This record gives sequence, structure tokens and C-alpha cells, in this order.
Amino acid sequence: MRESLGRWYRAHGRDLPWRHTQDPYAIWVSEVMLQQTQVATVIPYFQRWMQALPRIPDLAAAPQQRVLKLWEGLGYYRRALNLHKAAQILMQEQQGTFPTDLETVLALPGIGRTTAGGILSAAFNQPVPILDGNVKRVLARLVALQHPPAQCLPLLWQLSEQVLDPVQPRRFNQALMDLGATVCRPKQPRCGECPWQAECSAYNRGQHHQLPMSVPRPSRPHKQIAVAIVLRGKEILIDQRLETSMLSGLWEFPGGKIEPGETAAECVVREVKEEIGIDIEVVTELATIEHAYTHFTITLIAFICRYLSGEARPLQCTEVRWVRPAELSKFPFPGANQKLFPYLHAWLAEQRGALDSESSRDP
Ligand code: SF4
Repeated sequence: MRESLGRWYRAHGRDLPWRHTQDPYAIWVSEVMLQQTQVATVIPYFQRWMQALPRIPDLAAAPQQRVLKLWEGLGYYRRALNLHKAAQILMQEQQGTFPTDLETVLALPGIGRTTAGGILSAAFNQPVPILDGNVKRVLARLVALQHPPAQCLPLLWQLSEQVLDPVQPRRFNQALMDLGATVCRPKQPRCGECPWQAECSAYNRGQHHQLPMSVPRPSRPHKQIAVAIVLRGKEILIDQRLETSMLSGLWEFPGGKIEPGETAAECVVREVKEEIGIDIEVVTELATIEHAYTHFTITLIAFICRYLSGEARPLQCTEVRWVRPAELSKFPFPGANQKLFPYLHAWLAEQRGALDSESSRDP
């Protein structure tokens, strides 16, 4: 099985940028980016990141805002914050080098068993197993597992260790991931092209379309959020989310959850007062957008608002700033806020157009 997989990999393995290096830092960055994100999305982020922060000391010394900006759009921002923190730990404890033993790697923030296995096998050719989503699916089909993989993790880890090639673990783990990603796909597996077809229990029992079994997902709760784009002259108010909150470190337009019995417009006035300590009034509704997070979905209603009085203070956020519209792109924003940018820039352009035509009518 190892030989047939190796032959298949030589002919059909994916050519990915992080496979051209054995630099553990580059492989670590790619593994963390790939934790929740598709390969095609990761490639440009990985290339940009490696250009901007090519070594562990560069990452450790970078300001958090720069790290988050490089991650902007990839989601699950905790991953970027953990990479940053881990690089600082490596500077303090390992002279800026990446450790080679599993225990030390697993002690770093944001690195679980499969990420550690991916790094140690790819960078140092160590025989450490992996168990990402693709590998779970291949192994579950291989043994025709009659339970959802999430309920059988010890068994799947044991299998991953058993099949691993002790002589060429780097090549084997990469081949296994590629097999899951391109042949043993979640839907419509291409069993006719699979090097393990003869050994595959799911295929031999005709269960390759039904397995692996899945656990039904609970439906995601929905939240109604209102945000204020507060204008003061030519500046816009933004605030940085609290360290303890989801999406911590990112910037956003202030706002929050619409309470029962409250309109969206009333909500933004209240939220801005509570969060920033200033009084505002709503000028107009700008846009309503839908956005999905892993565990909930939101409807986000945005208002253009006018600053009235008070001094902006970070009462329920880390920092507040008044910025010019052109400066917004310098700050890392969550995806839902980014969806508002085109509406905001169109609205501002319209206002400028109206002012221009008014002034051209002046005698
Ligand atoms: S034979 Fe089909 S189901 Fe079995 S491992 Fe190969 S692709 Fe997956």
C-alpha cells in the first residue's frame, strides 16, 4: 500500500508552494493557514506572508496589527494571534529556531497533534502521523468505519500511525493528504483512480458513497446586529475589539446586538454611547448584509450617523480612532465589516458628487 501510494503521488501529487521548502517555519505557517481553509485560498496568503515575514524573528517582532492585516480575510483570526505568540515564545526559549521534538512543538499555542505531525514529517522527515479532515475520510473508508470519525479518533490515530511509512514519512503524509483532497473526495470519490482500491473496505462493500458517517450538525443561531458608521467632518470612527472577545485585535464599526423591543437605529445610538461614550444621531441606513460564522449567522444593518457630542473613549473596546476613509484599508477588519466598505465608499462618492454639483451651481 505504501509503494502504490508513493507511485500514485509521484505521478499525481499536488505542486504546492510550501512543498518546495523544508523550512519548518514556512511549513508551520502553511499548516496553520490550512487548518480551516482551502488550499486555493491559502496559496496567495502564504506567499504574501512569507514575503512580508520570512523568518521567525520577523514574525516575533512584527506589530500585532501587521500580523492581523496579513491574515485579513482568512478568518479564524485566533490562528494568526497564536502564530505571533508562538514566534515570540520561540525567540525567548529556542533562540528563534523551530523545535524538532513533538512535545515542545505541541506546547506551542495553536499547534495540535495533526499540525505538529504535518510540520515534523514535512520539515524533518520524522515518522509522526497526521489526522486532518482528508486523512480521517480516507482511513474511515479504508476500514469501512461504521461510526462517525469524530467518535473514533483514538482508532483513527492508531490507523494513521500504522499505515505511515517509517522510511519516507514526509512523502507518505503528503501523499495521504493529496489522496483525500483529490481522489477520495467527500462527494463522488474517484475510486477508479485510487491506488488503494483493492484494499479499501468501503469500496469493496459498495459503501464508498455512504461513508464516512456524519453527525447531524445543530442549526446555527442567528443574531441581528446594528453598526454605526459615525462621521465627524471627514473622519470616521472605528474601534478595536477587546482582547477577550471573538475576533480580538480586529477593528470594526461600533455597534452590537439589537435588544428586544428596540429598533436597529435605536440600537446603534445606545451601543455607541455604551461602547465609546459619545452621542450620535442616525442620518440614513446604509446597507443590510448577511454573514455566516462557524457557530452562528448574522444580519448586519449599518447606518451612517453624525457625531453630536462627547469625547470618544474605549469603554467597551481596546482603542478608538477617528480615521479618514482612505485609511480604513490599513486596519484589519472582520469579513462582515469588510462587506460594508463598497457601500460606504459609494455613499461617500455620492455625497461628494452632490456637493460638487451644488458648488458648480453657485454664482
Ligand atoms: S477506493 Fe474510493 S473510497 Fe476507497 S480510499 Fe480509494 S477513493 Fe477512497
